[in-house]
Amino acid sequence: MPEATCPCCNSEMDAHGDVVAGHMHHCSYCFGILASDRWLNGNIRQTSLRNLRNGVFNGKSAGYRCPTCQGEMVKGPVPTSKDSSMEIDGCLKCGSIWFDNREIEPFFPEIQDLLPESDKSASRWDKALGTLVGIAGLLSGSPAVIDEDTDISQASDSEE
Ligand SMILES: [Zn+2]
Ligand SMILES: [Zn+2]
Repeated sequence: MPEATCPCCNSEMDAHGDVVAGHMHHCSYCFGILASDRWLNGNIRQTSLRNLRNGVFNGKSAGYRCPTCQGEMVKGPVPTSKDSSMEIDGCLKCGSIWFDNREIEPFFPEIQDLLPESDKSASRWDKALGTLVGIAGLLSGSPAVIDEDTDISQASDSEE
């Protein structure tokens, strides 16, 4: 199982999954998630994945190396609804995608509400997984999950 160090806080990340299903690494300190290409293929709908990859891999250098293969990481905006997008990082070499929860949460406080009630008392890992599933839902182009009255347009032009 490949080891990985969190690109955000340098903590050693917890590895989940296997060779068949693909690997996913989770940082229990900052809640970042690194999902391998294979894992994404098995867990996210192809249409969502295509959106994700189009945005990320047409982006610019993210300035750091992939935690698992040392490939170049790039980042790009991924549309999550008609008016907003969020910046997500990915590895050009192995196709892993990095989800930085510290960036995501202020943009999508609604994600918490997407989780089934039973998940709210679950472990941090389950929460992280729920968050990722929530993101995948947003990426699939179902803006109905976002309250129309919520102003998230500012998320699309954050200064970074
Ligand atoms: Zn971290
Ligand atoms: Zn990589």
